[in-house]
Amino acid sequence: MYPFSFTKAADTRSALAAGQRGGRYIAGGTTLVDLMRETVERPETLVDISALPLRKITVTERGGLRIGALVRMAEAAAHPKVRTLHPVISQALELSASAQLRNMATIGGNIMQRTRCTYFRDVTAACNKREPGSGCAALEGFNRTHAILGTSDDCVATHPSDVAVAFAALEAKVHLLGPDGERSVAFADFLLRPGSTPNREQALRKGELITAVEIPAHPRPLKSGYLKVRDRQSYEFALTSAAVALHIRGGVIREAKVAAGGVGTVPWKLPAVERHLIGERPSKALWTAAAERAAEGARPLEHNRFKPELLKRTVERQLRIVGGTA
Ligand SMILES: Cc1cc2nc3c(=O)[nH]c(=O)nc-3n(C[C@H](O)[C@H](O)[C@H](O)COP(=O)(O)OP(=O)(O)OC[C@H]3O[C@@H](n4cnc5c(N)ncnc54)[C@H](O)[C@@H]3O)c2cc1C
Ligand code: SF4
Repeated sequence: MYPFSFTKAADTRSALAAGQRGGRYIAGGTTLVDLMRETVERPETLVDISALPLRKITVTERGGLRIGALVRMAEAAAHPKVRTLHPVISQALELSASAQLRNMATIGGNIMQRTRCTYFRDVTAACNKREPGSGCAALEGFNRTHAILGTSDDCVATHPSDVAVAFAALEAKVHLLGPDGERSVAFADFLLRPGSTPNREQALRKGELITAVEIPAHPRPLKSGYLKVRDRQSYEFALTSAAVALHIRGGVIREAKVAAGGVGTVPWKLPAVERHLIGERPSKALWTAAAERAAEGARPLEHNRFKPELLKRTVERQLRIVGGTA
């Protein structure tokens, strides 16, 4: 580990001031400290934000759900409003990491976590994300867990967060606070695809702080859930996953929100699948036909040729579970 200085912010103003001076925020520390130990991350100053008042879950005036950035994963998963309004969020969180990690790790830190690409974490390997211009060892290396959607010639790493897939499906917004005040960014625009600058991962400006993630109000109640496919039953990242939310009334699907994880360089919204469902009556044939569109545009690599088929099956199965014809 490299030497660093540490400061604990007493309030939001002092946190922002330290962030502006180049300080790096630390919340639960469950991923940043690991990366510092491995010398992948080398911040000079850590700014502990754990005392800031960002730990509330509230229903907004319009009926949306606002989850503070410092809410622990375990707290968010167990919260009655999250459980009843958006079970897909609770399930995605409960299927993440381990109980110990979920008790410490925060929602803001979760969506900011960096890729689990092994070459990114090995400082002796070529990695454009860690060291711009150095190359990408995964392209010719062992790329079984890597992305098949949204990749570029410079990076094929997946975004590892589970709850971010639920946020993408539900078209969440990320609330930010910076020296110029507050702003919010659509979740779809917050995490960036790699392109030729895989080292740029979020649409954050210097020193900006995530204050909350907001799920907008949905005029119609959504039935939802999350399915995660992984190499072992617990404590493992997704090979593929599906977040599905549906509103079915009068036997017809009126609203459909679907996103996939483990396959994209960012959580992958599936608008073609959604379009295929709306206005239709639930049936096994419909789920199969809709899921067939999940892997459109996929570019598998040498070791993850199984992913497009696995993705289709994951989406189909979760549509059946949420749609009620399982
Ligand atoms: C063994 C292991 C298994 C795991 N398995 C899973 C899994 O299956 N699914 C899954 O989704 N995750 C998994 N994780 C990741 C885990 O969920 C994250 O480590 C955790 O959510 C990070 O939250 P944190 O508060 O500890 O973040 P920190 O480590 O404190 O910070 C992470 C990053 O976020 C930034 N940051 C934190 N808060 C803010 C804020 N409010 N504003 C701006 N920047 C901020 C920090 O600067 C840092 O860059 C796993 C982690 C481990 C170690
Ligand atoms: S896939 Fe991305 S993170 Fe992994 S080695 Fe290549 S550039 Fe680095």
